[in-house]
Amino acid sequence: MGKLQNRLQTLATTNRPPTTLTGHPPTHFSHHHTLKEYNSDKPLACNLCRSEYSTGYFCSDCNYFIDKTCFSVPSMIQHMSHPQHPLRLTCYLDYQNENVNCRGCQVNFNSSRIRAYYCAPCKFILSRQCAGAPKTLTLADNISYELFFEFPFKHENAEVKCSICSNKVVIKDGLLYYNLEHDETLHVSCALTKEPKKKMTKMDRSIQQLNEARITE
Ligand SMILES: [Zn+2]
Ligand SMILES: [Zn+2]
Ligand SMILES: [Zn+2]
Ligand SMILES: [Zn+2]
Ligand SMILES: [Zn+2]
Repeated sequence: MGKLQNRLQTLATTNRPPTTLTGHPPTHFSHHHTLKEYNSDKPLACNLCRSEYSTGYFCSDCNYFIDKTCFSVPSMIQHMSHPQHPLRLTCYLDYQNENVNCRGCQVNFNSSRIRAYYCAPCKFILSRQCAGAPKTLTLADNISYELFFEFPFKHENAEVKCSICSNKVVIKDGLLYYNLEHDETLHVSCALTKEPKKKMTKMDRSIQQLNEARITE
């Protein structure tokens, strides 16, 4: 670290306002300024997921808003489907020139401006929903499905269809749910929408799953 940087670091530390019981003003890895809690009748579009919310965190200087859910999502994870590298919650600008599809739901990130978990060297990308998909999922009739990172019998040439939407499972080396006993395959997105409501909301569980995979630099 250079001398100047050192000095700046010291300045930044000494100039910090005294900590209060309420803690530091909220900061987020996606923005340089501290944020303020936002709670209003006027919903704002979240800079990370593009959906509108009326509560979250806001920088009035830049008009930068993050909803509460996105605020708690980790910036970097180690996902079981790509154990060799960490995945970063990357801004769409970093992959807008790549024609990349989510390894789970096949959504194309070229057209959507949302952040996703991305490994640049491998062009491996996962939407937040797919990155937060649970390892096992129990649907109606108590049938449980395991999350696979590729179709277990992909070398057999049979056409694989999703038992929920009846559409073909396009890639066999992507995320999918599979039940061995019933030989049933499900798209990740179909399975997650079909899942019956539980006490814990799907969003909460997805965030919990992501936080379990959280890593820091
Ligand atoms: Zn959001
Ligand atoms: Zn700002
Ligand atoms: Zn996906
Ligand atoms: Zn990689
Ligand atoms: Zn399906």
